[in-house]
Amino acid sequence: MLVGIGPGSTEHMTVRARAAIAEADTIIGYVTYIKLVADLIEGKEIVRKSMTEELDRAIEALDRARAGKKVALISSGDAGVYGMAGPTFEVLFQAGWTPPARDENGQPDPDGIEVEVVPGASALNSCAARVGAPLTHDFCAISLSDLLTPWPTIARRLDAAAAADFVVALYNPKSGRRTRQIVEAQRLFLRHRRPDTPVAIVKSAYRRREKITFTTLDAMSEADIGMLSTVLIGNSNTVVQYGLMVTPRGYANKYDLQGDGAARAGERRGRSLSTGLEGWLENLQIDHAAGDSLENLAQRHRLPLDYIRETLLNPLAAASDEPSEDSSASVVLDK
Ligand code: SAH
Repeated sequence: MLVGIGPGSTEHMTVRARAAIAEADTIIGYVTYIKLVADLIEGKEIVRKSMTEELDRAIEALDRARAGKKVALISSGDAGVYGMAGPTFEVLFQAGWTPPARDENGQPDPDGIEVEVVPGASALNSCAARVGAPLTHDFCAISLSDLLTPWPTIARRLDAAAAADFVVALYNPKSGRRTRQIVEAQRLFLRHRRPDTPVAIVKSAYRRREKITFTTLDAMSEADIGMLSTVLIGNSNTVVQYGLMVTPRGYANKYDLQGDGAARAGERRGRSLSTGLEGWLENLQIDHAAGDSLENLAQRHRLPLDYIRETLLNPLAAASDEPSEDSSASVVLDK
């Protein structure tokens, strides 16, 4: 069982994660995580490993499972997010492991080794929850650790995410030895984002030494950031108010939130925005017919020229009469 234990407090562990740990004969994990679940593991075989022994942990888990033990390999957050799930499957594949065959009742072959991944709240979920609602629009995670990833790969992703206006969660932002990565990330972001873009730094979310810092993109690298911090960088619409970092979902684009909550002029409840795909395409065709060049259109919309050309060659079919998609919102907004 590859168990994600969440940010670190037992309240934020899932029921299945607790049960998986309770069922296990052997618990394998990084020392800190073993400590976080100390109250659940009395009387079990414990294998503590240091941070750099990830593959050893996976190999050890396989050895114990082959010997007939039920093993819980624990990761903080979610085991599949920069965690042990990937390396464990890699070790399993290398060792020639295959998922056990199932009988007609769906029961696995008792001689095989079953693998279960138990999901947990990842640092981006818990850190976001501590500061408000920063991930309510498109976001991505980027790890600044260059221990296993070349810097140009990391830098390209930072540049692309910054340019595309994603909210970004930076994992592994800084350690004793890796101090320059966060400065480089800041420089790459400042090429695309305003200096006053809100940034939240959450250290040890839901743990004893939790610390939350609000800052801005131009000041972020001077903040107290460490191995146990996640850095959340807002997008161009993210705000901080009353100590809460919030990224708008987009309702204000469509509805008059100050007034009676009615749809704005030109917008229809339950339908794509007037600047959604169909409306946008219609205007694109109008602009093109009025003499706007492909180059101009590509530049204005910051989209590849090829894409604009092909889009104009493939006009959409007439709008269909689908049922309303954001009807749940209308319940809230209809006063
Ligand atoms: N599997 C983990 C991530 C492991 S990588 C998960 O899903 O959360 C380790 C990085 O995760 C740290 O450098 C930090 O950026 C982040 N992290 C993990 N736990 C955290 C916590 N409680 N508070 C803040 N950041 C955390």
